Amino acid sequence: MPELPEAETIARELDGTLTSRVVCGVSLLRADVFRGDRGALAGLVGQRVEKSARRGKRVTVQFEGGERLVFALGMSGRLAVVSADAKVEVHTHLRVGFDGGVELRFCDPRRFGGVYLFAKGAAVVGERLGALGPEPLEISAQAFHGLLDRRRQIKALLMDQAVIAGLGNIYADEALHRAGVHPMRLGAELSEVERRALWRGMRSVLRAAIKHRGTTLVDYRDPDGAPGSFQRKHRVYRRDGQPCRTCGVMIDKIVANGRSTHFCPQCQALGE
Ligand SMILES: [Zn+2]
Repeated sequence: MPELPEAETIARELDGTLTSRVVCGVSLLRADVFRGDRGALAGLVGQRVEKSARRGKRVTVQFEGGERLVFALGMSGRLAVVSADAKVEVHTHLRVGFDGGVELRFCDPRRFGGVYLFAKGAAVVGERLGALGPEPLEISAQAFHGLLDRRRQIKALLMDQAVIAGLGNIYADEALHRAGVHPMRLGAELSEVERRALWRGMRSVLRAAIKHRGTTLVDYRDPDGAPGSFQRKHRVYRRDGQPCRTCGVMIDKIVANGRSTHFCPQCQALGE
């Protein structure tokens, strides 16, 4: 499931491959993944890409005219830049053709994601586009400490996109392990030292994951796709039953915030 590092990797790839290219065709294969004006979507033909970027877990392609295509990747959304004559995979919902014979394709088997088109200057709001909190790689330690001052489980806080944008199940678990914080603790009960450790842990795991192109990635020039390599560096996520890389104790799995949660009972003790 794409989180910040995967979305960042995708955005960087798109920025490198699509910038300055001109749209030569748009084909919406499944209408319900698109939210916006279909006439305006067709109107992208002839538009040049200015840049691609990420915000939270979303990827945006911005055009010189100011329009922005926003991709919410949901549970299973994938973006690939492929040759225009590459075989069209099942669950491909949108194809945007560019000069030079390349195509941007959005696939999403489970359809929790979506594609949005915003006119120049329009706010990025809409159905399934909730509020986004600050970026974890930009927020100051002090501001982050303030965000945690709530009587909610820390794992739920970290995964709430309106509190802080971009973390999902994988990187919340990994950040909590790096900080030595049990996922069921309440945000408001964390000490200054723990909050600082969590701020650092969150940033270091996100940076490392971006460096390794994320956990669940695709190869943007290869329609078959290729995985990112960060899963080999996971310390707790899906490592239940295996020894903690820090202390050797068996990683445990519980349900927190309605999600499978992996942690080390020794490094992340609940306390007294
Ligand atoms: Zn441990």
